[in-house]
Amino acid sequence: MEYYSTNGQAPRASLEKAVVRGLAEDRGLYMPERIPALPESFFADIQTLTFPEIACTVADALFGGDIPAPELHRIVEETLAFDCPVVSVTRSIGALELFHGPTLAFKDVGARFMARLLGHFTRNSADRRTIHVLVATSGDTGSAVANGFLGVEGVRVHVLYPSGKVSPTQEAQVTTLGQNITALEVDGTFDDCQALVKNAFMDAELTGRLRLTSANSINVARLLPQSFYYFHAYAQMKRLGLAEQLVVCVPSGNFGNLCAALIAKRMGLPVKRFVAANNANDVFYEYLQTGQYKPRASIPTLANAMDVGAPSNFARILDLYGGDHAALCADISGATVSDLQIRATISDCLRRYGYLLDPHGACAFRAVYHHLAPSESAVICETAHPAKFQETVESAAGVGIEIPARLAAFLQGSKQSVPMGRDYASFRNYLSQL
Ligand SMILES: *Cc1c(COP(=O)(O)O)cnc(C)c1O
Repeated sequence: MEYYSTNGQAPRASLEKAVVRGLAEDRGLYMPERIPALPESFFADIQTLTFPEIACTVADALFGGDIPAPELHRIVEETLAFDCPVVSVTRSIGALELFHGPTLAFKDVGARFMARLLGHFTRNSADRRTIHVLVATSGDTGSAVANGFLGVEGVRVHVLYPSGKVSPTQEAQVTTLGQNITALEVDGTFDDCQALVKNAFMDAELTGRLRLTSANSINVARLLPQSFYYFHAYAQMKRLGLAEQLVVCVPSGNFGNLCAALIAKRMGLPVKRFVAANNANDVFYEYLQTGQYKPRASIPTLANAMDVGAPSNFARILDLYGGDHAALCADISGATVSDLQIRATISDCLRRYGYLLDPHGACAFRAVYHHLAPSESAVICETAHPAKFQETVESAAGVGIEIPARLAAFLQGSKQSVPMGRDYASFRNYLSQL
């Protein structure tokens, strides 16, 4: 399958090129040239299949032309070497718990898949040079990517994080891994880290010599596998007899996760409608109301992984609907949830249903709770484990939460980081020694 750029000014790319480059030459985002439809028979029996079986069928349709089936299935099975259950929180709302991966956030799925796909391409490419992945992080992305790529041959990851500005757990999640992961502790802000990465990608001498790529949700290898779990969610809801009029609600920041859900629908997944939950960073919500897209600077909220003022996957979602605002609004509605409402929702949901939400899941729960028709049921994405946001969740819910062993284990490791100035000269010097 070939991939085109949403800006329409770049040549079509193979999967390998789209994954290794990340962004197209015209700065557009790659999209699959066609979205394959899965047969009705698949949906008729889907409730009898395991998550890896479902994911392999979806992966075959998307990537089967580019990667031999046994290799692709191995990649999928390794990616999903943890479970992803749907818990019925209330009679009609299920929480799709996407936090069973190594860093307890949903980004683990995309990061693990991308790492294995890149590993496959480096092993089979004529170009045997190491691929260097550069990631700037304000917290969660860096840890998911670093953990996803840990131990993958032919790939080295360099995570840039702002010194003193990420939580101790997040810092431990990138600095204690070793092997092919290097943490660069930048004396600056997240924006400084991002600027360093951008400079490196624009440095022709460097990109001519090193194979550099990025690993955020602009990369198709991180984006597309996120469609897997929506099929799994449907299967679970079908088993419960709740899939007839299914609403899917996604707490959104850069909109990669929602985009993957929309792609799942194009592949035939019977979803009635989608709800995009925003926190106070609500440019998408505003777009739905007005038809005007006005990106702006982000503002900090309790659901900080959704603090995005210029969502990078907006271009893809618009592309899926051919820029037709009315068609898009027929499938997707929005909601905006304040910090006050996040706290109240965490507390209410625990009190009424005994279920503990994290601040991101709380946005999603709140966005559908009062807006379901009696005939509808919903799946909300619980995108992170509540323990990752311990202070907020404990103070909102009024209960103590146990820290999962997996999270606590990171804090036991010893920190290793490379100190780095915020000027490009230091970073370039570091890269030139690779
Ligand atoms: C990244 C993230 C989101 C937002 O996902 P997008 O694909 O960027 O919209 C939501 N919740 C959590 C916990 C995240 O880490």
